[in-house]
Amino acid sequence: MNIAVIGTGYVGLVTGACFSEMGNTVVCIDNNQDKINKLNKGIVPIYEPGLKELIQNNSTKTLFFSTEIEKAVKKSDIIFIAVGTPMSADGSADLSSVYDVAKLIGENIASQTIVVTKSTVPVGTTFKIQEIIQSKLTNRNITVKFDVASNPEFLKEGSAIDDFMKPDRVVIGVSSDFVLQKMKELYSPFFRTHDRFITMDVRSAEMTKYAANAMLATKISFINEIANICEKVGADANQVRIGIGSDKRIGYSFIYPGIGYGGTCFPKDIAALKKISIDNGYDPVLISAVENVNYNQKKLFVNKVILRFGENLKGLIFTIWGLSFKPETDDMREAPSIYVIKELVKRGAKIKAFDPKAMKEAEEHYLKGLDNITYIESKYKALKNADAMILLTEWKEFRSPDFEEIKMQLKTPVIIDGRNQYKSLDLQEKGFEYYQVGRN
Ligand code: NAD
Repeated sequence: MNIAVIGTGYVGLVTGACFSEMGNTVVCIDNNQDKINKLNKGIVPIYEPGLKELIQNNSTKTLFFSTEIEKAVKKSDIIFIAVGTPMSADGSADLSSVYDVAKLIGENIASQTIVVTKSTVPVGTTFKIQEIIQSKLTNRNITVKFDVASNPEFLKEGSAIDDFMKPDRVVIGVSSDFVLQKMKELYSPFFRTHDRFITMDVRSAEMTKYAANAMLATKISFINEIANICEKVGADANQVRIGIGSDKRIGYSFIYPGIGYGGTCFPKDIAALKKISIDNGYDPVLISAVENVNYNQKKLFVNKVILRFGENLKGLIFTIWGLSFKPETDDMREAPSIYVIKELVKRGAKIKAFDPKAMKEAEEHYLKGLDNITYIESKYKALKNADAMILLTEWKEFRSPDFEEIKMQLKTPVIIDGRNQYKSLDLQEKGFEYYQVGRN
């Protein structure tokens, strides 16, 4: 099939690369010329395990990159919209890029096409896209048969290729059997053992994405709340986690106490779901609480530092291990590290930061212009003369570090761990003062 993927970010690039790997001819479109130039030179602008190799395998054979949306739209059987839907000031999803793309599709489609919403969008957006395209066709005074569908994406940054190649499920919201068959044709190479299609109406598919993210965010805020209570009553949240995770109805995933969720999806999707609810006359009490717990979690973590070192952090140096919002990605969007670092700097601290992949993103965008932070290319060198090491992202390379080396480098052997990576007793035996989340 000829496919256009519009929006070449984390989702669009992975989608395009995976469809091309299965033999489709794919053009990935973006309005960021710099990004497209890089991709055409073989430079992958984001870090995602396996993506570079997949692009190298297919580039210039079945995978192309361009800014020319008009051409791509004319030639495609299926067009995926995968542009960003960031959070607006009022919490709603900013749909301006989605609607800009819909207008360009309406101005350019020339033959039968299926337009699929892959971006996370509020319920009703796909039908709005349909209206926009139809109105452009009416203006052009032509009739072109086109259909719309919703196909929300569930990939996880850090394992995006695997998630796309071997999906748990592919949710398709459609209004016609023709579209369903086409989507099945496109996705069936990804289901080697059994069909994992979940077909539903368009609105329910749009809502499914928000509901999935809200459920996961709820699990995180739930365990963080339990962890905060554990600290007050002298229980150990790590043990409680194992105790409850063993119940199959609860499960072990997404119940790790920590410093709260971040990233491109959860914060904005929770805010958008809240706004959708309120706009439709429903007070989303639980969703609001999930958001509040998450915000407080970062504050409570900073309080741990203050409790140990005092409110005035002037003259103190803290080493941060991990900047990205989670491991295996360079994505810094809404990373808890941004809040934590800014709060420490505000109180006079100096920061030495190390992250395996996200230092460039942090320095050039998310912590740009922040005084008193230096980025250091080695996790051990970053510890030199620091008053404490603060772990914020659970990269694998932090799991079993050389504690002797850490102790040698640090001025005082203090570790404040936002991801509960180590065994408390072990660290105490090794002579560390060790603070975690959910343990007094
Ligand atoms: P992103 O910011 O990485 O990528 C979006 C891309 O769209 C950018 O490259 C941008 O330049 C491009 N773009 C914006 N406006 C455009 C326009 N008018 N024409 C052409 N290109 C345009 O975003 P992302 O993380 O890939 O997310 C995309 C969508 O997928 C969002 O709705 C997000 O909520 C959803 N989603 C993201 C993830 C994830 O893990 N990142 C997972 C599932 C769903």
